[in-house]
Amino acid sequence: MFKLIKKAIPPSVKDKIKSGIKFIRQLDYRDLIIWMNWIIGIKLPSKVRIDASSLCQLNCRGCFMRKFNYGNRGKGYLKFTDFEKFVKMNPYIKEVELSNLGEVFLNPDLKKIIQFAYSKKVKLTAWNGVNFNTVSDEILEALVKYQFYGMNVAIDGSSQEIYSWYRRNGNFDKVIDNIKKLKEYKEKYHSYHPIIVWQYVVSELNQSESEIKRAKEMAHELGCKIIFIKDWDGFIPDDLPMVERETGLIYENKETGGLYGSEDNKVSYSPLRTLFCVELWTSPQINYDGRLMGCCPNMTKDYGVNVFEIGLKKSLYSDVYKRTKKMLMGGKVCEESPCIDCSFYKKIASENNFITKKEIRRRKGIYD
Ligand code: SF4
Ligand code: SF4
Repeated sequence: MFKLIKKAIPPSVKDKIKSGIKFIRQLDYRDLIIWMNWIIGIKLPSKVRIDASSLCQLNCRGCFMRKFNYGNRGKGYLKFTDFEKFVKMNPYIKEVELSNLGEVFLNPDLKKIIQFAYSKKVKLTAWNGVNFNTVSDEILEALVKYQFYGMNVAIDGSSQEIYSWYRRNGNFDKVIDNIKKLKEYKEKYHSYHPIIVWQYVVSELNQSESEIKRAKEMAHELGCKIIFIKDWDGFIPDDLPMVERETGLIYENKETGGLYGSEDNKVSYSPLRTLFCVELWTSPQINYDGRLMGCCPNMTKDYGVNVFEIGLKKSLYSDVYKRTKKMLMGGKVCEESPCIDCSFYKKIASENNFITKKEIRRRKGIYD
């Protein structure tokens, strides 16, 4: 009987059934939780950002944390028990970005966090950047063994002299040594992860052709990618054609320059606003102690809820957070919002250039 039914089904329908079964098999139960919530009108992200540590051993010239004297973030690190509780309480979370306003590798619970995330299939990243000066062999091995996904290592130069001008207290040789050791562990475990990206911000000091070329060669030898980034403050290299040729960067606005340009430059400013504000929908920022911060640059005020205590769902549906999202999309002003005093919001509001559904969707976010 079964064989007869099977024969009667046309091949095109069979193919559709097969791909349907394949699709269901590949489904992650975490997606199912998100979809089921979505059906009843609750929008949940699959990714969050939690500061692994706000502590840092360096003293960089332009350090955001130091500039704001740690703001309302405080000095501390993510405890393993809190991370474990968070993952268990919010089982739909697939990815956690650990880096933001400090050095991830100063977290004494990091090994346990990496190990636990691996056991729960939670992808860990540090794309916001690490300085990679202080990393024990045990942690280097754990990064590979427990498949830490990837990180950007901030190395703005290819010599100690240039590197430590900006990264005060930083040791260029140590960073390179740590990358070399990590490479050896990757070879030992035949692992592609963690992906290491050398992040080089082009500034006045490291703009020479020799410095840039040497960094590219070293990155190649170390088996890591290198990305060049324009300076936040709007620096324009002296030899622009050479820098554009060697780094692949394009300085659209030769007058104001900068990664995102000055705040007065609307064209350059737009991506930054989209990048940060949209995090409220796509990957909310949580402080190391569980306080909900919304976006990664928020240093002034939290949303008055603790994710580790009440869970992510309740936190994202708390009053001020909901009203802030509406406000950023052009709705009623929420005076209690941390965004009220933020220069990005001021700019958004003054230009009537609010966050759109399209921008949120483009960053794989959900909106409501
Ligand atoms: S490495 Fe980052 S957190 Fe540390 S001092 Fe430098 S900018 Fe600040
Ligand atoms: S307006 Fe400022 S504080 Fe608010 S989400 Fe955007 S960047 Fe963050």
